[in-house]
Order: sequence, then C-alpha cells, then structure tokens
Amino acid sequence: MLGGIGSGKSTVAREFARRGCPVIDADAIGHELLDAEPHRTRLVETFGEEIIGAEGRVDRRALADCAFASAEAVATLNGILHPPIRQRCQEEIGRHQAKGRGPAIVLDAPLLVEAGLADACDVLVFVECDRSRRFERWARGDRDRAAALEKRENFQISLDMKRQMADYIVGNNSGLSAITEQVARILSAL
Ligand code: ATP
Repeated sequence: MLGGIGSGKSTVAREFARRGCPVIDADAIGHELLDAEPHRTRLVETFGEEIIGAEGRVDRRALADCAFASAEAVATLNGILHPPIRQRCQEEIGRHQAKGRGPAIVLDAPLLVEAGLADACDVLVFVECDRSRRFERWARGDRDRAAALEKRENFQISLDMKRQMADYIVGNNSGLSAITEQVARILSAL
C-alpha cells in the first residue's frame, strides 16, 4: 500500500481485512521495535536521552522532533529502524504464506518503498487523496500536526514517483463506500 501521509492507507487496508486478507501493520511493528534492543540503545546513542519519556519508553513525539530536524537525521533514523522493520515484515509475510489463508496478504507500510519492501510485493496499490483533504483528515485543524505532515513528507520519495510504481490506484477523495467498491474490484482482478 502506497500513498501520502493521511491518504487512507490503513483505512483501505481495513477494507482488505474485512474481505479476509491478513494485514501486516508495519507502523505497529516499527513502534514495537523502538523499545527493543539493540535499536533502543542505538536510538539513545544517536539522538540522546531526551527521546526517553517519563515511563522509560522511547517517546515517539520527542524522537520525531529530533529525527525530523534534518535529512541526515532522518537517514540515520531510517538506517536504524528500516532493516529490522523489513526483516519483521518479511517474517510475517512468510508466516501468512505458510498458513495460506486469504485472497492476498496486505502490507500496510507507510514507507514501503523507502524501507526497501516494494520488492516483497507482487502488486502495489497507491491510495490517492488530495493534499488539502489529507491535511483536513490527518491534522484535523491542528496546526502542529499539519506542520509535521508537511515536514515529514519532504523527506519521503515523491508521491508522483510512488503513483507511477503502482499497479492499482484507489481514489480516496470521497466517502468510505467508494473504497469498498474499489477494493472489491482489485481483489476480483487478482
Ligand atoms: P498514515 O500516513 O498516518 O499512516 P494513512 O494513510 O494510513 O495515514 P488513515 O489513517 O487510513 O491514513 O486515514 C487518515 C484519517 O482519515 C483517519 O482519521 C481516517 O479515519 C480518515 N479517513 C480515511 N479515509 C476516509 C474517507 N474516505 N472518508 C472520511 N475519512 C477518511
């Protein structure tokens, strides 16, 4: 699943799940890995103790503040987290393949291309959503979240390029029922 921040990737993934597809949530895997060794130590060595929150866990907001400060810092963060995320996703894909259930295995990975996971997919789906609508849905009027969206997206591979890589495009500028139909069409084509 490809698409801009807040384009509706997880929402589309949920529709695939409703139709029996196992979904691998790379975001959740990434969050889990933050506090797993050796990644946690590497993150603290790189970004400092200030990324540790009051409960002794890596504070995602504090980490984002440090990591999205420069292209170099983002590359360092990706260098620490992308290899283990890739490995875990590939293990999960193998696990689901061994079970052999569902019409397709869905990889809901916001940085699928950046993390080197595109080759693990037979088919790429791009979720298309206008920038203004993504800001509206994702930031919900919060100016800090809108600024964060803008800043993060600047460090990612361009949406035009991701769109060109895709085998299918799901338009998500209207209501949820439009997603239902488009996912059904993709599954029947597969
Ligand atoms: P991220 O880049 O953070 O991983 P995402 O691309 O997975 O985001 P979602 O989390 O699926 O995007 O959607 C962003 C927000 O927009 C959510 O609050 C979701 O409920 C809402 N949303 C998605 N699609 C629609 C839609 N068609 N109509 C109304 N709200 C929607």
